[in-house]
Formats: sequence, C-alpha cells, structure tokens
Amino acid sequence: MAERAQHVEAGTAPRTDFWLTIGGERVAGDGRLDVINPATGKVFAQAPAASRAQLDAAVRAARTAFESWRGTTYAERAELVRAFTKKLRERQNELAELLTREQGKPLSQSIAEIDRGAAQSDGMVTIEIPVEVLIDDADRRIELKYRPLGVVGIITPWNAPVNLALGPLVSALYTGNTAVLKPSPYTPLTTLELGEIAREVFPPGVVNVLAGGDDLGKWLTEHPGVDKISFTGSVETGKKVAAAAAGTLKRLTLELGGNDPAIILDDVDPKAIAKKVFFAAFVNSGQVCMAIKRIYAHEKIYEALCDALVEEARKAKVGNGLDPDTTLGPIQNKMQYDKVRAILEDTKKSGARILCGGEVPEGEGYFFPPTLVTDIDEQSRLVQEEQFGPIVPILKFSDVEDAIRRANDTRYGLSASVWTNDLERGKAIAERLEVGTAWVNQHRATSAFVPFGGAKESGLGRQYSIVGLKGYMEPEVISVAKK
Ligand code: NAD
Repeated sequence: MAERAQHVEAGTAPRTDFWLTIGGERVAGDGRLDVINPATGKVFAQAPAASRAQLDAAVRAARTAFESWRGTTYAERAELVRAFTKKLRERQNELAELLTREQGKPLSQSIAEIDRGAAQSDGMVTIEIPVEVLIDDADRRIELKYRPLGVVGIITPWNAPVNLALGPLVSALYTGNTAVLKPSPYTPLTTLELGEIAREVFPPGVVNVLAGGDDLGKWLTEHPGVDKISFTGSVETGKKVAAAAAGTLKRLTLELGGNDPAIILDDVDPKAIAKKVFFAAFVNSGQVCMAIKRIYAHEKIYEALCDALVEEARKAKVGNGLDPDTTLGPIQNKMQYDKVRAILEDTKKSGARILCGGEVPEGEGYFFPPTLVTDIDEQSRLVQEEQFGPIVPILKFSDVEDAIRRANDTRYGLSASVWTNDLERGKAIAERLEVGTAWVNQHRATSAFVPFGGAKESGLGRQYSIVGLKGYMEPEVISVAKK
C-alpha cells in the first residue's frame, strides 16, 4: 500500500477525478488510495481502490468480452491499438505532467516514456504470427498455430508505469486476449487514465483497469478466472506471484529486477563514453530495471573514467521534475528512499570512498544526489543488491576474465554491457555474460521487435517481439492424417 502521508499539498485539495474501468464502465472504487508527489512528500491526489468484489466483476467482464474478442483478426485488433495510441498521443502532454507528479521523473522523460510506449505498441502490432507448417507430406499435414489464452492479469511497478503497462497490455490485446491491468499503488493515476482512453476505443470488458494495494495484486494472481499473469516488479514479489499462479498453473511472464554490470575495457576514451554510461546508470534516478548498477573499469582507464563520471554527476540537476532544468527527479517513494539511504549508510560504514554526492539534503521531497562510490568491497550491499537508486559503485579490474567472472557472480541476469573500440572483442565478451540482453557500446536499447527479459532470477519469459507475443498464446498442434 502507498504510505499514508500526514499532509496534503498546500493550496489545492487533492484531485479525486479518477475512476476504475470495469466492463467498459467508469466505476468509483470501493476504497481510496492516497497518491503522494515524491517531489513534496505530500498527498496530491486520491485514486479509487478496487475491492475483491470489483476484481471479480472485472474478471467476469474480461471473460465475457473474450468470447467475441478472440474471434477478431490481427488486423482488426491492430487497428484498434493504433486508434488507442493515437488518442494517447493526443493527451501526451497532459498525461506526462500527471506522470511526473505521481512518479517524479523530469517532464521531458515523462513525455518520452509515453512516446516510446506508443511507438512500441504501434511496432508490436505489425508483427505477424504465422501458422507454422511442421510436416506436410503424402500422409499428413501438421501445423503449429497459436491461440489466445483468455484473460491476462497485468501487474506493474512504479518506475515507468505507462511504458510497463503498454508493453504487456498491447501484447495481450493484439494476440486476442482480454486484460485486467493493475498498476502500483504508488503510481496508479496515469494507468487509470489509460483505462479512460481504452474505454473510448475497445469493446466493453476487453480492457479493465483496477487500482489498489498489494492485496489486489495477490487476489489477481490467485484468481481462477485469470489465465496468465504478466508481472513486472521485484524478484521477491515475482516469486510470490509464481507461487500463487501455480494454484491454477497460470502462464507467466515475469520481468524482474536486475543488477546490471557494465564492463569498460582498456581501449576506450573515458571522456567519450562517460555521458552515455552516466545516463544509463542514473536516468530516472537509477530507478530502471536495466540501469547500469555496477561499473567494472579496467585499471588503465579507471581514474580517468572516475573523473569523467564525476564531471557528469556535477552537471546533473536534481529537483522537481516539473522544473524544466531538472535532469534527475526524486526517488519515487519513501520506502525506496529509506532503502537507498540505508545502502548509502552501509557503504559509508564499510570504508568505501564516496567520489561525489553522498549527502542527502534536508527538506521536503525524496531527493538524493547522484552518488559514485569507489574502493568498495565486492560483498557490500551496494554491489550485491539491486540498489534501484542514484548510487553506483565503480569497481577496478586488471584481467578481463576476472571482470567477466565478477559480472556473472550474481543471482540477477537481466542485462549487461561491454564498452570497447574493438567490436569483435566486445561481442565475444558479451556472449559470455549470463543475461537476457548483452549490449556492446550501449545500454538500455530496446525495441518492439527485440525480445527483452531476464536470465536467472531476473525473470521468466520475454516481452516484445514475436518471442514475447507467443508468451501470450497457447501453441496448438493441428495434425491431419490425409489417408
Ligand atoms: P514490487 O515487486 O514491490 O511491486 C510490483 C507490483 O506488484 C505492484 O503493482 C505491487 O502492488 C504488486 N504486488 C505486491 N505484492 C504482490 C503480491 N504478493 N502478488 C501480486 N502482486 C503484488 O516492485 P516495485 O518496487 O513496484 O518495482 C521495482 C522493481 O521492479 C525493481 O526490482 C525493478 O528492477 C523491477 N522492474 C523490472 C522491470 C523489467 O522489465 N525486468 C522493469 C521495471 C521494474
């Protein structure tokens, strides 16, 4: 549950004009959730919170809608998705401001998040999922076709609520499923607005959007009327989701946390890459599943890289995301803010060297300066855990084999990157990293046409591309004996 703040933002009463979407209707919640602006630490809106009975109603509506929606063609569904993204773009600026107020990120990045989500949605609905002919001879014809699963429950986190809702939502709809979407209790508002837009475009019951606390997520994962769960969030919750889904053997896509390493080789110009590496580590104040969370730098360029990254950190402007000068917004919620502060304290106590940042300002809002750390023990919390905040360790290596071993020495396996002027060498190292995506000279590059997801405990299945879409479908063999 979002923490209940004592105070509301001064000047205006909290906005309350948000609704659930159930069966094509705009519905008030049986309960309410306070929504806090992380730049002030105060309540600025209230969202409706769905009860268990409202979840039942949404699942029933989705099941009913599935009966006709499953019979529509890919082309018909693609057209509706495009109508949906068109309306989303029309409301982009207004929604981006709401996203910044609830999530904290700079307004330009909220705009970019909506833009990107819409573009990826448009891209996904151009993907063809053909019937595969496995055998066709004199005796038999065997085809492999894919059919929708039914009702997909979608659960999202608070770091990129629009983008992380659109990926699974459009995947589910385009492949002929209906959906019940549940955002994080910390950032429910823009997702509820997606429901408003969906109501104008899709037949009733195809898209249902319910805000609520963690309990609502749990009920959704246990619900016998739900066929698949697409979950994005932490490893710990992902495991609970998998356990709950086992009750009815629901299909699962789990997009979980990461502790991405970036391995910087000895042949790079640190100044030339610093901006990209800094951005990949600190964008959204480090609250990105695939942000760089550990930097392994070769000893030859180590000092110069530290200097160049500190230089980038000094250029960053931490502040309210609505201020046009801000490049890094606050940490999204108090719980995460306290966790990142505890990691900072642990890092300081361990005797590691704070290169920049490290002093959390007093005052309202969950602000935290970009903090770079060196001379840190490999076993410390900052290196071992997913910090999910603006504090990143830079670790030295002399032998690349050692760097690969240390990069892989984690239960996480979301993504990783290698930085070098020797592309062949970079690719050879990338191939040895135990992750879902290994980049060379870039980090965080994703596309509607490329599968994304985690190895090891960073997830199960993939999102995007034909690989991701097939995760929303049941493969079915049609085997015809010709004689
Ligand atoms: P979280 O796991 O705390 O919560 C995610 C969602 O799960 C929320 O909607 C929450 O209400 C719901 N939930 C909580 N308990 C539940 C339960 N028992 N059953 C079902 N649902 C439940 O994660 P968070 O703190 O919101 O998000 C941050 C995490 O998400 C980080 O670990 C980050 O790396 C990860 N993440 C992963 C990806 C990816 O694509 N791999 C993308 C973004 C974020």
